[in-house]
Parts: sequence; structure tokens; C-alpha cells
Amino acid sequence: MIKSKLPNVSTTIFSVMSKLAIDYNAINLAQGFPDFDTDEELINLLNHYSSNGYNQYAPMIGIEKLRHSITDKFHKLYKSNYDYQTEVNITSGASQAIFNVISTLIHPNDEVIIFEPAYDMYQPCVELFGGKVVPIELKYPEFSIDFNELEQKITSKTKLIIVNNPNNPSGKILTENDLKSFEDILKKTDCYLLADEVYEHITFDEQEHQSFAKLHSLKDRIFIVGSFGKLFHITGWKIGYILAEESFMNEFRKCHQFNTFSTHTPSQYALADYLENESNYLNLSKFFQDKRDLFINGLSQTKFDVLPSEGTYFVNANYSKISDLPDNEFAEFLTKEYKVATIPLSAFYNQKKDYKIVRFCFAKKDKTLLDAINNLMTL
Ligand code: PMP
Ligand code: GLN
Repeated sequence: MIKSKLPNVSTTIFSVMSKLAIDYNAINLAQGFPDFDTDEELINLLNHYSSNGYNQYAPMIGIEKLRHSITDKFHKLYKSNYDYQTEVNITSGASQAIFNVISTLIHPNDEVIIFEPAYDMYQPCVELFGGKVVPIELKYPEFSIDFNELEQKITSKTKLIIVNNPNNPSGKILTENDLKSFEDILKKTDCYLLADEVYEHITFDEQEHQSFAKLHSLKDRIFIVGSFGKLFHITGWKIGYILAEESFMNEFRKCHQFNTFSTHTPSQYALADYLENESNYLNLSKFFQDKRDLFINGLSQTKFDVLPSEGTYFVNANYSKISDLPDNEFAEFLTKEYKVATIPLSAFYNQKKDYKIVRFCFAKKDKTLLDAINNLMTL
């Protein structure tokens, strides 16, 4: 019998709900992935590179042109100064970058602060390396951060704070003031911060993304993680990146080289070319805002109470007027009986907190969203 390293962990909710959606032939608004294809131009670039011999190992740190495009993009958007040779690394998805930051940094008994509801991979990864997660609950229903609580929870053992902005699953985004509060707190401590910014280009209502890359004076303690899966509707390519100051990056690379070594080669060349046209990512907010509005408009005609979505491609809704079931049972019921799969919000809380909320993903064709609304209207 194997002694489990993660005795309290079962299969991730995303796999569970996607399988249930398939089994019951339901519309999958659960797991976060688009049901439309990516731009043909990007597919053609991938085909071009894989048909022309770009099929062997990429450099461990990622191909030069892609690293360069990323550091240039960050310089243009946030005035940051990352060196394309020593301070950026291509990874096999944001997940691998996050796992690797934790493996690089966390020793047994180190404390890691996360904000709940939290993306589900943070805690198990920390625990795999013997770290202890200290959760802070985002204040419901606004999902705002209590910075006093953050200050109180930071101890001499706190090694890392993980912040996901724009936030999955709450759809909340940080303001300039929030960023300033983080800056003030970090300056008083010596802990590191992992900024999971995979939804960087999905912010709504003219609100700008507040990247932690703007905190130039804290560059040596902040790690920025991004995902091309989310950026270009290619979640299956599993390609992302990390930006960090050189001394941390040296340590990160030691772990990375024995974790995955390098990342899919033709995708890197394709993405490096595709990034040359900035409208390929700067138009994303408008694209998803239209989908958000279409979906929320429909949802508000049902018995759900819709919560705000300021960014990401998720929106939450309270179903108290429909059912008393716990949220995991309600999500199951909705999938089986009304053919719409969602994610119960409790899956993102350590203590499985149940606010009677489910998360919908609106990164779908308009028709998919309207079909789902039709089903939900009959509730
Ligand atoms: N962080 C967050 C908040 C996510 O929602 C996801 C899912 N895409 C990831 C990280 C992982 O990204 P990737 O698919 O590039 O590994
Ligand atoms: N990030 C996606 C979500 O939140 C899921 C990714 C995954 O399935 N691991 O739904």
C-alpha cells in the first residue's frame, strides 16, 4: 500500500465535472476552456513549424524569440525590466510554472498564504513539499481582501503569498490601491509573492489589469506566471511562462530542468510569431466582455442571483431561490437534470465553505451560452 503524500486530495473538481457533463450529455460550463477554436493563423503557424523540422528539444529555458516577446510585452505594458536571457522561462503551462515556484521555494514547515476561494492546485502543491497553507478568506460577497488580516497572518514562517489576479473563481480584479497595499506590506516583510496572472488580458468595463510586474522595487521577491492557453484559446497546448529576478530564476531552472526539462518546440515558435501582433491579445477583454454580457443578461432572467464578474471568463451565481441542496449536490443535480455543468464554489475552499454558489464558464460560443440559458430558464 502506498503511503499517500496527499491523503486528503481526490480527483480535481474540473475533471469530475467535465466527466459528469460527458456522461449526462450536458453543456459543459464547468471546466474553464473555450469550445471555439483558436485563430487559424496560429494553427497555420504551428503546422508550419512542425512541418519544417522544428520538432526536437527546445532549449531548457525556452526559445529566444518567445522569451524576448514576453519581456518586451511586459516592458511595454508595465514598464518592467526583465532580461530575456536570465529572467524569463517558458513552462509547460502556468501549472508547471506554479508547481515549480513552489518546489523551488518551499521547505518543510514554511507557511504559504493563499486567498480563498483559491484555484485548487495551490494547496496540494505546497503540502507536497511539506509547507503549510494559511488561508485567508476573501470577504464575501465582494470577494475583497482584508489587508489587516493579511498583515496579522504573516509570521516569521511565512515564505510565500500566492495571489491570483484576475481571480478564478471569484471574477474579482485588484485595483491600483490593492496593489499599493501589497507593496506596503511586502516592504515590511521578507516574504515572496507568486502572482498568478493567467487571465491578465481578460478585464472588463475599461478596468486595467494591475500586474504585480508594476512593483519594480520588489522585483526580486515577485514571480509572475502567465498562460498562453488562456490568452489564445489553446488550453490543450499547455504552454506558459514565468518572469522572475535572476537569482531566483537560477534556482527555478535547477528544478525546472529535472521536472520537464523543456516545452513543446513548434508551439513556442508559433507563439513567438503570433505575439508580434498585439491586437491578438489586446482585443481579448472586449471579446469576452460581450460573452459575459450575453450570458449574464440571460442568467438574470432565471432564478439565479448573479454576482459581478470583473475579469476572467467565469461568473458566479447564487441558487438559494432554487434549492437548499449543498453546492456540490446542486451542481450534480443541475448537470443530470438540466444538462448544464458548473463548478460548486466550495471546491475552492479548504473548509468546503458553502455559500450556495456555482461557477459558470462563459468562454463558449454564443449558441452554447444561449442553449444553457434556455435550459436554466426551466428551473
Ligand atoms: N491558474 C489559474 C488561476 C487557472 O485558472 C489555471 C487554469 N488555466 C491555471 C493557473 C493553469 O494554467 P495552464 O492551463 O496554463 O497550466
Ligand atoms: N483553470 C481551469 C478552471 O478553472 C481548469 C484547468 C484544469 O482543469 N486543471 O476551470
